[in-house]
Amino acid sequence: MADTAIIGDGPAGLSAALLLAKNGHTAVVFGGDETLMHHAHLYNYLGVPDVGGSEFQRIARGQATDAGARIEEREVTGIRKDGAAFTVSTTEGEQRFDHVILAGGRSAATLATELDAAADDGAIRVDGDAATTVPGLYAAGHLVRPERSQAIISAGDGAKAALDILSKEAGRDVHDWDTPGG
Ligand SMILES: Cc1cc2nc3c(=O)[nH]c(=O)nc-3n(C[C@H](O)[C@H](O)[C@H](O)COP(=O)(O)OP(=O)(O)OC[C@H]3O[C@@H](n4cnc5c(N)ncnc54)[C@H](O)[C@@H]3O)c2cc1C
Repeated sequence: MADTAIIGDGPAGLSAALLLAKNGHTAVVFGGDETLMHHAHLYNYLGVPDVGGSEFQRIARGQATDAGARIEEREVTGIRKDGAAFTVSTTEGEQRFDHVILAGGRSAATLATELDAAADDGAIRVDGDAATTVPGLYAAGHLVRPERSQAIISAGDGAKAALDILSKEAGRDVHDWDTPGG
């Protein structure tokens, strides 16, 4: 089982955390609940016709933590790559992780460029699995699409990153599919 740090607690970060934790992996989300979602009201999120952004966040945070994710309400101030692993720094100290998902909106771009992740016109470059050019480092949501940001796309990006980590750890392609009745 892998340890993943998720920098950002908006839809992108919480979606990644939910899938990882639900599958038994350690998922630690860093963020102070300052997402843009608190300024939004969603009428365009498929399957959820009408929900306030803050209410969406309340539900999403509960869903991720109920699945076993941990949310640490602090800012990440730096990330270092030590071989294949990452050291994440906050004001409270340092923690090591196998993978990092950057989902912190525009303000997390500096963390990506400090790790030498490639960017195009300020948007962090990712492949179809949300992987950056740095092995083990993913980027999702508003951070990779600053001018075309939607909550549902951020949640999808986070899910892509999580599925890629789950697949790499399992050594085969992984879905997270459930059926009626659990
Ligand atoms: C006024 C307004 C209305 C909107 N209306 C809609 C709408 O109707 N429908 C829709 O789909 N979208 C809407 N949006 C856009 C939507 O809010 C964003 O698409 C969505 O919030 C992006 O999610 P995200 O997870 O990518 O990033 P964000 O929501 O930006 O979350 C990033 C989080 O990471 C945290 N963070 C950043 N850096 C760090 C760090 N170093 N350490 C720890 N935490 C960090 C931030 O504080 C933030 O909480 C609206 C936005 C605004 C501003």
